[in-house]
Order: sequence, then C-alpha cells, then structure tokens
Amino acid sequence: MVGRVDVALTEVLRRTGLSECIPRLTLSVTSLSLDLACRDSVLPARSWQCDAEAAAPPCHRCGARAVDAGREGPGLRDTGGVDITELTRKILDRRERENDPLRIVQAGHPALRRRAVTAHERLDVELLLELAEAMTLTMREAPGVGLAAPQVGLPLRFYVIEDSFAADEGEDPDDDLLERRPLALRYLLDPVLEPLGTERVYAFEGCLSVDGWQSIVPRSRRVRLRATELLEDGGLREVDEEHLGWTARILQHETDHLAGTLCHDLAVPRSYIDAAYSGHYADLGEAVRLLGLSGEITELGEGEVVIG
Ligand SMILES: [Zn+2]
Repeated sequence: MVGRVDVALTEVLRRTGLSECIPRLTLSVTSLSLDLACRDSVLPARSWQCDAEAAAPPCHRCGARAVDAGREGPGLRDTGGVDITELTRKILDRRERENDPLRIVQAGHPALRRRAVTAHERLDVELLLELAEAMTLTMREAPGVGLAAPQVGLPLRFYVIEDSFAADEGEDPDDDLLERRPLALRYLLDPVLEPLGTERVYAFEGCLSVDGWQSIVPRSRRVRLRATELLEDGGLREVDEEHLGWTARILQHETDHLAGTLCHDLAVPRSYIDAAYSGHYADLGEAVRLLGLSGEITELGEGEVVIG
C-alpha cells in the first residue's frame, strides 16, 4: 500500500510539474485514492483534464488534480488504468452542449505520449459513432485534416481524417507538388501502415496538438493502409489500400499519434518554425538556406519535395 501511494505521488508530482513546491504540499490519502492539494503555491496553474484525473476536482489554487491510484492493474497499463468506455463518456459529456468541440490537448499532456489500445470491439458502436462525430466536428472547427483519439485525451487506436481544403489536380501548384487531393471523411480503427518503396517526401507539417508551429517532416511517399473502417451507418469494413502524397502523410501523422509520437519528433533538425512564418519558406530550398538545414534535404532541387 505504501509503495503504491509513493509511486502515485511521484507520478502526480511529475505529471503536474509541482515537484518544485513539495514543501508546500499537503497530502491526504483516503482509501485507494490520493488527493493532492497545493497550499499557497506561487507556481502558475498547470493542469490537464483527460483521464482518471478528470474524476477529481482540481485544487482551487494551483489546478492540480488528484490521481486515482487504485485502478492500476494487470492488463490496464496501456490505458493508464482507465476504462475506455467510461473515459469516452466522460470526454463527450465534458462538453456543455452536444455540438461543442472536444478539447484538443497540447504537447506536454501525457495523453499524447501514451500507447493507445486496440479499438476494435472496445466501444459499443453507438458510442464509437458519437465519438467519431464529435471528433469530426472538433477537427473541422480547429480546422485540421485529421484528429486522433489521443488528441482528445483518449488512448484508443482510432482517428478521423478529411481534407476538404485541397484543390483538384491542375488547380493549385502547391497541392500538385505535394500530391494533395481532396479526401473524404473517414473513421479508421486500428490502422497499420506499411511504407511502399523508398521515396521520401519533404514538407512542412503542423499538428493541432502543437498549435501554431510547423516543422519539415520527411514521410514515405507511398504507404499501404490496413484498417477497420467505421461507416456512418455504424457498419464496419476491413480496408487494404495504397495511398500516396499528402493523404499518405496524413495517415502517417495520425497513425504516429497512436504510438505516442508527434510529427515534430521526426522533424528535420532546425526546421521548427512559427506557422506565421511559413510563407517565407514556400520552397524548401529557402528553408535549407535560411534555417541552415543539412542532411538529405539539401539534395532537393528547386521546387522538388521527393527524394529516392
Ligand atoms: Zn497531430
């Protein structure tokens, strides 16, 4: 019992960033839950609200939330000891109104670094559809072209994708360069990607969980996608498809989220920029020159984005 509480406390301090104010903490242990309160903290509020911690009220001064230390158990390590159905319901019910977007967690939130669990048969179809629709609304309002469940605090191998911003072939030189085409709304469970060929495509990429920032991320130009697709009528179908260009990039970006990887983890070193500056780097050659990039990306010719 003591060991479990110690581990939980360490985790609470680590995850809330409150380790600096240990002398000011008052701890009380009740049953199998651990309550943490900050007394007279001088630190700015740092808190998150997504999983088990959402069940407890935050400290009124510092925003720290209690962590339920009693539900960790065999087979639950992937979900952090959280029941996925219960957590999904909580995330959906956290909205004031049914048509409000979900909260997209930002880099630094542990939900983005957790290994997601298999989605197939994890949730009732009705609940999965409700989640898919809420995530779609959230993605569209952001706006973005994909949203993975971990981005709304749910460690589930599930994401929604849609690109309604792309032009048809021949209408936009940038979209043509990146092989970016309109992509219909899709709900995908348990996607598995396999790179096809050795070509790599370089492009600036952003993430709704790293709001306002971009970096150049190399991706496989072509991938094979195997997944279960949730249809809008609640039906499921197995898919085995090939994709290329920007759609392949979206699939790689969202699938990486399910393994706790952010696109910027894979970025070309030194290529991280404020998204407001992206206009200065329309050609990747400009990024190589102005940002001092090195490596394979320097092999790209003017107006090229593919190597291999
Ligand atoms: Zn992302």
